[in-house]
Amino acid sequence: MAVDPLIELRDVNKHYGTLHVLRNISLTVDRGEVVVVIGPSGSGKSTLCRVMNRLETVESGTIVIDGRPLPEEGRGLAELRAEVGMVFQSFNLFAHKTVLANVSLAQIKVRGRKKEDADRRSRELLDRVGLAGQADKYPAQLSGGQQQRVAIARALAMDPKVLLFDEPTSALDPEMINEVLEVMRQLAREGMTMVVVTHEMGFARSAANRVVFMSDGCVIEDRTPEEFFTAPESERAKDFLSKIL
Ligand code: ADP
Ligand code: MG
Repeated sequence: MAVDPLIELRDVNKHYGTLHVLRNISLTVDRGEVVVVIGPSGSGKSTLCRVMNRLETVESGTIVIDGRPLPEEGRGLAELRAEVGMVFQSFNLFAHKTVLANVSLAQIKVRGRKKEDADRRSRELLDRVGLAGQADKYPAQLSGGQQQRVAIARALAMDPKVLLFDEPTSALDPEMINEVLEVMRQLAREGMTMVVVTHEMGFARSAANRVVFMSDGCVIEDRTPEEFFTAPESERAKDFLSKIL
């Protein structure tokens, strides 16, 4: 039973055409929890993230965020997207805007903050992700790891209730992975609720409260990292782990 659910999915189903990508997914994320989602390519991990902030619709089932059903459209949807922040593999920064402007933009447009207040908050957050001094640069002048930390600062600037990370380090050169994971570990320690799709098993072991293993659109296992990594129950999880560990 959930202690203090922030995200609740019940019997969620999603198709792309004839492809059944989410099959009766029921999943709860409690406030302050870090849930790591792992599984083979094509198992539905990105789709799972995308339905949680309604970048994708579902055909059946219910999704409740902080006690409220997902809004369909309009103002409520914009607010939901601010509250359920998302960090993508590909950073998605605006190339023609400075780092500072990237972090401030949605604060002004979505949260209605004054530019000077937004910029002040942006500088605080850039400092927090180790990028003080980079505010006036453009994304192309930064490394991939730095760009991803800008994307994290941008998501944090919305004061999200939860952050979704979809393979945040998969596009990075190996030497930059840790600087991004370290920012994520820090957020976890501060109590941020996080859903993290990743292949970084070290992060899953050290930072996750729960590991959700997906295969073919189903949640196959949902357990503590200790249980999952030392004694996976399903053949599919054993097979997956034998290939990546
Ligand atoms: P994962 O993130 O685990 O690799 P995805 O959620 O991206 O899996 O994809 C699940 C399945 O849905 C895959 O077979 C993928 O090819 C398919 N898929 C994903 N997005 C779309 C889309 N927009 N249209 C059609 N099929 C899609
Ligand atoms: Mg994916």
